[in-house]
Amino acid sequence: MQKVIEDIDILANDSTQHEACETVKVSEDENTGKERKLYIESYGCQMNFSDSEIVSSIMKKEGFDTTSDFNEADVIFLNTCSIREKAEQTVRARLSQFNTVKKNRPEMMIGVLGCMAERLKSQLLEEEKVVDLVVGPDAYRDLPGLVKQVDEGQKAVNTFLSREETYADISPVRLNSNGVTAFISIMRGCDNMCSFCVVPFTRGRERSRDPYSIVKEAQELFNNGYREVTLLGQNVDSYKWSPEVNNKARLEKSEVSEVINFANLLEMVAKVHPDLRVRFSTSHPKDITDEVLHTMKKYENICNYIHLPAQSGNTRVLEIMNRTYTREWYIDRVDAIRRIIGEDCGISSDMIAGFCTETEEEHQDTLTLMDYVKYDFSYMFFYSERPGTLAAKKFEDDIPLEIKKRRLSEIIDRQQKHSHLRNQRDVGKVHKVLIEGFSKRSNDDLQGRNSANKVVIFPKKHYQKGQYVNVLVDRCTPATLFGNIVD
Ligand code: SAM
Ligand code: SF4
Repeated sequence: MQKVIEDIDILANDSTQHEACETVKVSEDENTGKERKLYIESYGCQMNFSDSEIVSSIMKKEGFDTTSDFNEADVIFLNTCSIREKAEQTVRARLSQFNTVKKNRPEMMIGVLGCMAERLKSQLLEEEKVVDLVVGPDAYRDLPGLVKQVDEGQKAVNTFLSREETYADISPVRLNSNGVTAFISIMRGCDNMCSFCVVPFTRGRERSRDPYSIVKEAQELFNNGYREVTLLGQNVDSYKWSPEVNNKARLEKSEVSEVINFANLLEMVAKVHPDLRVRFSTSHPKDITDEVLHTMKKYENICNYIHLPAQSGNTRVLEIMNRTYTREWYIDRVDAIRRIIGEDCGISSDMIAGFCTETEEEHQDTLTLMDYVKYDFSYMFFYSERPGTLAAKKFEDDIPLEIKKRRLSEIIDRQQKHSHLRNQRDVGKVHKVLIEGFSKRSNDDLQGRNSANKVVIFPKKHYQKGQYVNVLVDRCTPATLFGNIVD
């Protein structure tokens, strides 16, 4: 697999760990004697990986086992990302590789799913002749019919965006699972319209999933040995559900009997079991409430970690990004986290370097915001113009690539420094760690995470994944804590 990834330049020199969306995941082998085999490769964010689990569940009912080897697949799906241009280029490079494979196996079906399918729709069939099937993120229930259509010799497309679909009743097949941590999708779409972002166009309007189906999924995971769930959404703080309507825009206009907000949902999931850790992502600075922070404080099993993307530290840039908060507002939210939860709460961010018209002084504001917050971690990008977005329509992408890259490297350097500083604070302290498995480097060591989402590595002794242990941290790098179990 490593070879394949290198071939398609996903791990090219300039893409390092800070770029979340460069990640690719591949389905695992599952042999339950089904007639046909599905290979699914997923790009981009955790939401996409989560969607691939829903897709696998739907396809399993249609007579497909999954495979990790595309050479033995009857159907290949690429679940794609459109967030930056490079993500789309990666998928196109991959499709041209599959084109070669298909020359020897013309019966093999190739489908493009997710954001790129939604953005390009049937145009993708014209541009990429190897593709048989194009399916947007709200149309996965239609996959059996679409696959049948291709079996009958036609091309198939469904990119209909729904206002209600949450796949609440579909029990995902866990792919790439460590059996300890799992992701639960709690909402879909986004109503925010940040000017740089393609997501509102590719994933549609915001809707929240039935909280009782979320709690049921968390309970089932716990019963099956899982000990941590991460609740996923583009803007979890804006989660809102009522028994009458789940679409946020409609809900806000309707008279409804009962509304469950994100703080209520967090509490419901935290109560599933004290040994089930609860995490969530992503929080939006404009929506995160003190009520959520107090709920985190109240339950020991809700982890002290918040991914709170700032994007920029300058108020004018934030305004043209349409983020709807100022630098001061953002700082007030960080102060609230420190006041209510404390200094040890992990905070991470996403940052964009070189957005349209950004000056050197405005870039410096991003660095000084970083100095103020001292993030534990950040995903950092340079601006990539996306067709159809508000920014593409309104502003010129006027910062030269070399300047974008230089500003990005300054942001990355600052983050490295802060990650190291934050990790050094943890040395000499005991951390409660949930063991996730062996460390990547050695089977004599285990690794897990502390509440603040930091990776901790320690000698395994007789312990196993899924257990909680107390680890005294004795040294660190910017990325990792090291120590020994103390009980
Ligand atoms: N909903 C999340 C939020 O608002 O924080 C983020 C979702 S987006 C999938 C992940 C990150 O990609 C964003 O936070 C932003 O930093 C980055 N991103 C989105 N559009 C981008 C663009 N056009 N160029 C560069 N980075 C972009
Ligand atoms: Fe994109 Fe903004 Fe929505 Fe995040 S909140 S998905 S950045 S539009």
